[in-house]
Amino acid sequence: MSTVNRKPVHVAMFSGGAASAYVAYQMVQAHGKENCILFFTNTLWEDEDNYRFMNEVSEYIGLEITERIDGRTPEEVFYDYRFLGNSRMAKCSEELKVYQTIIFLEELRDVYNLEPILYFGIGPHETHRSDNLREFYKHRPIEPIETRFPMIDTFRADIDVKAIIENEWGIKLPRMYSIAKDLRPELGVKGFSHANCGGRCVRGGFQHYALLYSVWPHVYAEQEEMEENFRKHFEKNVSILKKDGGPYTLREYRKVLETEGVEKFLQKPDDTVPCVCSFS
Ligand code: SF4
Repeated sequence: MSTVNRKPVHVAMFSGGAASAYVAYQMVQAHGKENCILFFTNTLWEDEDNYRFMNEVSEYIGLEITERIDGRTPEEVFYDYRFLGNSRMAKCSEELKVYQTIIFLEELRDVYNLEPILYFGIGPHETHRSDNLREFYKHRPIEPIETRFPMIDTFRADIDVKAIIENEWGIKLPRMYSIAKDLRPELGVKGFSHANCGGRCVRGGFQHYALLYSVWPHVYAEQEEMEENFRKHFEKNVSILKKDGGPYTLREYRKVLETEGVEKFLQKPDDTVPCVCSFS
């Protein structure tokens, strides 16, 4: 069936971040909540405060969250594929987010005869990610899907969505944005730049894991244990982080952080989070 016969439905790709919340709000103002969907794919590793934020935003906007869950955690996906996710390849993202999204979009078309238009909270400083997403949804699912990036194309470049959400909406931002400032102010860092999967993102790099170790050493320990268990189970020398093109385990990295301190590793930002898992 051609797209012209389907009624449009506006779908906010709600990640749990401030920008996607703001984009969702504006989308509903423009098109009415009866024509909108607030869509979230849950990896079961999300930080609990992200759920609090999402629920408050959903209530503020007046639109329930439509959630899709594969049912596996990223760790379970790694075991299924016998491949530990890392910055170069993260099957968790494909399976738990992309695949669930594609199924949902196909259902909108096939079951409800709706034509989805997707809205992302990606900002002007991340056009490489919006370009990737535009390109991706041109080819998947079967027919191209329209993608919109109001933070780039519509809103003022200097709009401060975090301030609007906190001051005008009265909703506290997810704690991961300011976790370092709150728990370790002496580090001079505010919080996670990508707070996906409760700080356990396998796309995170050296800065990300140095920060995780600094603010939530117990979560770092969980991730380290997951990596060690995987290595033992499959008897493979693999790791989440890479150094000089080879494996570099979280255990090795922790020892370096313990002896050399975290500060120098907090300075250089990572740029490895996949576009579909964006916390924006
Ligand atoms: S945020 Fe990271 S760990 Fe979570 S699904 Fe995406 S790539 Fe995997």
